[in-house]
Amino acid sequence: MLLGFNGATSMNYDLETDIRIAQQAGFDLLEIWAAKLNNYLEDNSLESLKQRLEEAHVKPYSINSIEFITFKEGRDYEEIKTECRRLCSIAKELDCPKIVVVPSPTPEGATEEDIIAESVRVLRELSAIASEYDVDLAFEFLGFSHISVSTLDLCYRIVRETDRPNIGLVLDTFHFYAGGSGVEEIEAVDKDKIFIFHINDAEDRERSRLEDAHRLFPGEGVIPLTDILKGLKKVGYNNMVSIELFRPEYWELPPRELGARSFDTIKQALRGIYR
Ligand code: ZN
Repeated sequence: MLLGFNGATSMNYDLETDIRIAQQAGFDLLEIWAAKLNNYLEDNSLESLKQRLEEAHVKPYSINSIEFITFKEGRDYEEIKTECRRLCSIAKELDCPKIVVVPSPTPEGATEEDIIAESVRVLRELSAIASEYDVDLAFEFLGFSHISVSTLDLCYRIVRETDRPNIGLVLDTFHFYAGGSGVEEIEAVDKDKIFIFHINDAEDRERSRLEDAHRLFPGEGVIPLTDILKGLKKVGYNNMVSIELFRPEYWELPPRELGARSFDTIKQALRGIYR
């Protein structure tokens, strides 16, 4: 299983620092935070970024993310497609295989059928754009009640119905737990459709009140990570795992310490199940 570091874990640091964090801690992969990428490219070239990543022996795995892709109209929807094309072109240049895409909040009155139909329509359209650049799109359900796709089951149904080789999903342990997904839902998923696995833990709070800021290092909270990992192992998933913590308190940690704690807590969580 390859180990990844997600730029949300170190939100206050820039992309160059993220590369250094990943390199120093021993991560194989970096999930690039799109806003940091944009900042970097204001003053630097894509070629120099590629070089930095190569020198650090850190492979870019994804760009995070295009948010709220569904239920957009007119110019707003055009902007999603334009952003998709822009990030795909960068990803291709960087040899970065994936981009994360995120569903929108549920519009008033929308039924589950509406959500499935709209998600499939948009994912197929974005799939066509991404395939021109040989990029995969990973659809990430968010376990918040106001979001249109908040469980693994619904996310996977949409991915299956979309039925495109370059469309898969993100399984994020925080969203899995917050949205009330069950471990049996993992066992129904085709491992090859799990494009990205985000690991993190969460504070002991009512699930419906959990927010991103309540994320914790793996093993320090209440998410049944062992059960989730066993479920993934059972379906034969063995690709990658990336740590994604949106916790402001951690953003204050020195880069080296943040990287080391991230790396050690992932390894600890995997121990006995993966390696
Ligand atoms: Zn995530």
